[in-house]
Amino acid sequence: MSSDCIFCSIVDGDVPGRIVREGAGVTAFLDVNPLAPGHVLAVPNDHMERLQDVPDEEAEDLYRVIHDLVPAIEEAVDADATNVAFNNGPAAGQEVPHLHCHIVPRFAEDSGGPIHAAFGDRPDLDDEELDGIADRIREH
Ligand code: AMP
Ligand code: ZN
Repeated sequence: MSSDCIFCSIVDGDVPGRIVREGAGVTAFLDVNPLAPGHVLAVPNDHMERLQDVPDEEAEDLYRVIHDLVPAIEEAVDADATNVAFNNGPAAGQEVPHLHCHIVPRFAEDSGGPIHAAFGDRPDLDDEELDGIADRIREH
């Protein structure tokens, strides 16, 4: 646990949270400043900052909890869909440095957009550049 981390404090019960799911090393609670009714954050109990910091076994647990929560949340708030996303690192908008998955309910007539709307100008990449990027990802 990181002593000055708000999400560690919620996991440890030192700060109140509207917890909706506990167990399997993962805690999920309502976002205090929701983008939609039923906006939930799912966090690993252990303090880690990014997706790539999650050990393999815990990654499976985290995915399983997200997988279970999505239908439960959609049913609970009668949502039509959900956006499920990580802001993975400060440059991607992560403000709380304890990894968390946002599960945000969506409604057919809401004013939101797709994840694509979070991005500005798109890069103009030719085939050679795309091939090179795919190669480098495969190598790593
Ligand atoms: P991010 O920008 O991805 O780091 O998102 C952090 C999220 O944490 C925001 O949606 C905040 O509303 C939420 N948040 C911050 N403090 C709390 C808290 N004490 N309880 C629940 N959610 C919180
Ligand atoms: Zn933490």
